Amino acid sequence: MYKILCFCLLISQTACGQSAIKQSNKTNTMPNKENTYYSRTSKEAVIVPDSVWKQILSPEVYAIAREKGTERPFTSPFETSKAIGTYYCKACGNPLFKSDTKFDSGCGWPSFYEPLTKKSIIYTPDNTHGMVRTEVQCGKCKAHLGHVFEDGPPPTGLRYCINGVILDFDAK
Ligand SMILES: [Zn+2]
Repeated sequence: MYKILCFCLLISQTACGQSAIKQSNKTNTMPNKENTYYSRTSKEAVIVPDSVWKQILSPEVYAIAREKGTERPFTSPFETSKAIGTYYCKACGNPLFKSDTKFDSGCGWPSFYEPLTKKSIIYTPDNTHGMVRTEVQCGKCKAHLGHVFEDGPPPTGLRYCINGVILDFDAK
């Protein structure tokens, strides 16, 4: 009787072991959370459902990029940064702004007077919160970036007021 019990125990342990292995395989085949849509060289439009972005982006980037959130003013290290380089879309890697078009607006968010190229940005009218504003989105993945206002410095007279959370900086 004791031997039979041992045998049963052995079988059940083996079975458990197998199911544990299966479980770990299953974990490996779960959706890949690495952002495979991020590329600084590809210019192809990135069209990804929000449900997929939610698995890829961090909660704070998702809240800005896909839910049009706004970070608290004066919280981004990019706001006062004078570093020389390029700012990219944190979601897809699209080059957005050069540091030499960045200026100190004092508004609490990183501010630029001109996007890197005409295709960097998409402009959309935004009449929410009782204001008439122009929303700026990433030209490649349509992530919400911020707004553009007509009180910027020369030569454009524009102020691109951008959430630092959605920016990725590279000193090049
Ligand atoms: Zn983007």
